Amino acid sequence: MKILIVDDQAFVRETIKSEFIQIAPEVSFDFHEADCGNKAIEMLEHNSLSDLPTIELVIADLKMENGDGLAIINHMATTRSREIPIAIVSSSDKRTLELIGNITNSFSLNLVGVFQKPLDISDIYASIAAKKAFPQEPDISEEITPICNEANITSLLNEENLFLCYQPKINIKTGELVGFEVLSRLCIQGDGFIYPDKFIPLIEKAGLNCQFTKLVLNQALSQWHLFEKLKSYSLSINISANDLLSDDFINYVIDKHLTNSDIKLMLELTESQQTINQDRSLQAIAKLIINDIPISLDDFGKSYSTFDRLDSIPFDEIKIDKDFVSDLDVNLQHQAIVESTIALARKLNVKVVAEGVETLSVLKRLQMLGCHIAQGYFISPPIEGRYLMAWINEYNLQHECQYVSC
Ligand code: C2E
Ligand code: CA
Ligand code: CA
Repeated sequence: MKILIVDDQAFVRETIKSEFIQIAPEVSFDFHEADCGNKAIEMLEHNSLSDLPTIELVIADLKMENGDGLAIINHMATTRSREIPIAIVSSSDKRTLELIGNITNSFSLNLVGVFQKPLDISDIYASIAAKKAFPQEPDISEEITPICNEANITSLLNEENLFLCYQPKINIKTGELVGFEVLSRLCIQGDGFIYPDKFIPLIEKAGLNCQFTKLVLNQALSQWHLFEKLKSYSLSINISANDLLSDDFINYVIDKHLTNSDIKLMLELTESQQTINQDRSLQAIAKLIINDIPISLDDFGKSYSTFDRLDSIPFDEIKIDKDFVSDLDVNLQHQAIVESTIALARKLNVKVVAEGVETLSVLKRLQMLGCHIAQGYFISPPIEGRYLMAWINEYNLQHECQYVSC
C-alpha cells in the first residue's frame, strides 16, 4: 500500500510509519515522505503524470511552512489526485478540525477523516479499511442536469436510467453486517448522475411515485437474486408516503414479497405527518405488517408527533435522522434526543438504526447508548451494485479485527 506522509516533524512521520506496520503487519507498505506541502504537491504531481503505482493514501498535517495542509487539499481538488483518499491530522481544536472536514468535503475529495493529534493510527486504519479500494459512489454531479425537469421526467423513468446504490447497516454491538438500504440515482447518458433530492420531488409531482418505487423494487430484487449470499442481508427500500395511498401498489408489494420469500424485504417510510395519519395510509401500513413486511420509520425525530406514532403502529425499526446523529459526540442536545429515543424504542421493543454515522467517536457513543444498528459514511458510503459482493467479502474479512481495535 503506497502512502504519502506529509508532516514537518520527522519523528511524527516515523511514528506513523511504525504504527502502520504494527497495526497491519500483513500489509506491504510503501511509505513516501514530505516535510512540507509544496514538496508533497510536487510528489503528487509527479506520481499522477508517471506510470508509478498510484498513491493509495495521503496523510497530511495541517500546519506547515512552505505549503500547508490546505494547499494540498486545494491542489488535490483540482487535479487527478482528487480521488486519492486523504487523512488530515492536526493539533487544532475540534471545531477547526470540523471546519477543515467541511471544506474538504465541499471539494468532493475522498476524505478518510480529520484526526486530532496525538494520532491514533488505528482510527485512520479503521476508516481506510472500510473505504479502501472501492470507488463506492459514482461521481455524481451536484448540478441538476437540464434534461431532468418536470416536462420530461416521465420519459426518463425507465430501467436503463435507474441506478441503484446499496448502503450497509451493521449491528453496533458485534460489527456484523445486517442489511442494506437501497438508494436511487438517475443516470442519464451524457448527463451524469442525479441525486434523489433532485428527482424525487419531480416524480411525486408528476404522480409517478408508485411506478418509480416498483422499478426500484424490481431492480433491487434482481440484484439480490444474483448472489445467494445477499439473501442473508435485509434489503430496505424507501417508499414515499404517497405510495401508501395506492391499493394497487400495496398489493403489488405484497405479491412481490410472497414470490421472493427468500429475500428479507423491508420498507423505509419517511415520516410525513399529514399522510401517515390518514386512515388509508394507516390501513396500508397495517396490511403490509399483517403480510409480514417489516416497516422502518425513517427520519425519526424530524416531525412533531413521532412519539405518538410509535405507540400506535408496530414499526419494526426506527431510523434516527442523520441530523441528530452525525454530531452526537459534540452536540449535547442531539445526544439527549438520541439517548431518549433509544430508551423509548427499547421499551417498545423496536430496533433503532442510527443513520449518518460518520466517525468512530459517534459509533462508540451510540454503542454506549445501546443503539442497535448503524449506517453511515464511517461504515461505508452507498456502494454501486457491481462492487457490492467485493465490499461484503472485504468487510466480513476485516470487521472482526477492526472491532477489536475499537
Ligand atoms: P434517507 O432515506 O434518509 O437516506 C439517507 C441519505 O443520507 C442518503 O442520501 C445517503 O446517501 C445519505 N447518507 C448516508 N450516510 C451518510 C452519512 O454518514 N452522512 C451524511 N451526511 N449523509 C449520509 P441520498 O442517497 O441522497 O438520498 C436522499 C433521500 O432520498 C433519502 O434519504 C430518501 O428519503 C430518498 N430516496 C433515496 N432513494 C429513494 C428511492 O428509491 N425511493 C424514494 N421514495 N426515496 C428515495
Ligand atoms: Ca431511508
Ligand atoms: Ca434520513
